[in-house]
Amino acid sequence: MKITALAGGVGGAKLAHGLAQILPPEDLTIIVNTGDDFEHLGLYICPDLDTVCYTLAGLANPETGWGRTGETWQTISNIEKLGGPSWFRLGDQDFATHIERMRRLKAGQSLSQVTRDFCKAWGINHTVIPMSDNPVRTIVKTDQGELAFQEYFVHQRCEPRVKAFRFDGVEEAKAAPGAREAIQSADAIIICPSNPWVSIAPILAVPGLRPEMEAKQVAAVSPIIGGRAVKGPAAKMFDELGIQPSALAVAEQYRGLVNYYVLDKIDSQLEAHVQRLSMRTLVTNTLMKTADDRKRLAEDVLNFAGNIT
Ligand code: GDP
Ligand code: CA
Repeated sequence: MKITALAGGVGGAKLAHGLAQILPPEDLTIIVNTGDDFEHLGLYICPDLDTVCYTLAGLANPETGWGRTGETWQTISNIEKLGGPSWFRLGDQDFATHIERMRRLKAGQSLSQVTRDFCKAWGINHTVIPMSDNPVRTIVKTDQGELAFQEYFVHQRCEPRVKAFRFDGVEEAKAAPGAREAIQSADAIIICPSNPWVSIAPILAVPGLRPEMEAKQVAAVSPIIGGRAVKGPAAKMFDELGIQPSALAVAEQYRGLVNYYVLDKIDSQLEAHVQRLSMRTLVTNTLMKTADDRKRLAEDVLNFAGNIT
């Protein structure tokens, strides 16, 4: 079964890794959010792409959910000593990724080409595609004004209250080469348990991608379990936008797009409500603590999605 998955960072990467343990390389394409990307220290940083790639390559730091395992911090601490910005933590190995990516982008390679080459170097055989090669920047409108995404997320630790989001540049952005085709040729689309506001919404906003998906069977896994995010500000964002955070609230965000919805056993009481949104439901364990959890959830989702095509 050919699957195209949409992913942000940590939650998306975990399910993508589960899917990659089951599906052969030609049957899995992962389209990754680039709304978090930014230039920092003269480098081009792609947090979600790197989290997905490091995770698939077995290089990810499982404790933090970002960055690499076995990391050292010489460069950033020396930058700090020189008076440079150190709020965005970049490890020494991670720096190499950003330096080499910047060199290639400056030399005229596209982000998707760089990603393809890096995947090859890291031994990743499944296809990873950034949503677009054109810059799209998530801007968070908050009670303290508009903030660039990493300014909000990392520097201000998600403390400002969220009012709305916009994705700068998305109207003019083109889907990256292969992204539309991957959706067209998929038997099912899987929306990973990523933040619906700032990881999945930017991908869906890239012109052409959502309409292409609407013609498909689309399954989504809730990133909200028992009314809380496993990690990150997703639940806080729902709250601040005046919506009670729940697996149902996420399903409502995906109304009209998703027809198959996976929610956690803890949330089984929401199943009937989700079904009223014209979604079929699967209730299973959705917390991925181990590599086995990732694989088992991926299996559950594939069986669910497999029955529907
Ligand atoms: P980010 O870009 O690194 O913030 O990553 P994502 O948007 O891909 O993932 C963040 C979301 O993943 C959060 O809303 C978490 O609740 C969710 N998440 C993280 N781990 C898990 C998990 O094991 N199971 C589920 N269902 N959701 C998870
Ligand atoms: Ca992210």
